[in-house]
Amino acid sequence: MNQIRTHLTSIRDRIEAACARAGRSPGQVRLVAVAKTKPAAMVEAAFAAGQQIIGESYVQELVTKAGQVKAPVEWHFLGHLQTNKVKFLPGIVHMIHAVDRPSLALEINRQWQGRDVPIDVLIQVDLAGEETKFGVREQELQTLVREVGELPSLRIRGLMTLPPFFPDPEDVRPYFIRLRELAQDMAALNLPNVDMKELSMGMSHDFEVAVEEGATLVRVGTAIFGERESW
Ligand SMILES: *Cc1c(COP(=O)(O)O)cnc(C)c1O
Repeated sequence: MNQIRTHLTSIRDRIEAACARAGRSPGQVRLVAVAKTKPAAMVEAAFAAGQQIIGESYVQELVTKAGQVKAPVEWHFLGHLQTNKVKFLPGIVHMIHAVDRPSLALEINRQWQGRDVPIDVLIQVDLAGEETKFGVREQELQTLVREVGELPSLRIRGLMTLPPFFPDPEDVRPYFIRLRELAQDMAALNLPNVDMKELSMGMSHDFEVAVEEGATLVRVGTAIFGERESW
C-alpha cells in the first residue's frame, strides 16, 4: 500500500517534468488513477496519498467498489460502455470518457434527465481505424459531436483516445498530436454546449509523451497500482 504513495509521487513528478519540457503548467494536467481489478483498499490508499480522481472500466466493478470506498473520490468511467448498463452510473460517476455512438449518448441523456447537473462526457476517437477498437472514426466525429451537443443532459468536455500499443512511446506521439488537432477543429465550430478543453490521452507507458502533446487527463493504472491479473 505504501508503494501506491511512492508511485503517485513519482508519476506526479514525471508529469511536472513533461509539462516543463512542453512549457505547460502542471495545473493543466489531472491524473486519473485507473483502479480496475484492484480492491477498494487500494483506492482508499491512493486517496490518502492525495489522489482524487479514480478511473474504472467495468460497470459492475465500479458499482461494487463505489459502495465500498468511503473516501469522497471522483469516479470516472473510462471503458467501453454498453447501453443497457448506463442506468447504473448516475449518482456515481463525474465523467464518462468513452462516448462513441449516438445510441449511447441518447441513453446517457435519458438516464441523466431530471438531475441537477448534466454529466460531463468525452468523445472517444478511434484514430487507428482498427476494426476491433471502439471509438468514432475521424470522418464521423463532427456529426457525432453535433448530435451529442444537442442533448441537454450531457456536456461535451473534449476528446479521448486509446491508441494502438507500440513498444516505443515515441511512436504514439502522432496519435496524440492528431487528437489535439481534432479537438482544435471541433472547437473552431463553436457549437453550443460543446467544449473542447479536455484531452484524455496517455497511459502508464506513454503518459509523458501525451502530456507533452497537450493531455489534460492522463489515465494511469499499472504504474500506480501494479500489474493487473489478466481478466
Ligand atoms: C486500463 C485502462 C487504462 C490504464 O492502463 P495502464 O496501462 O494500466 O496505465 C487507461 N485507459 C483505459 C481506457 C483503460 O481501460
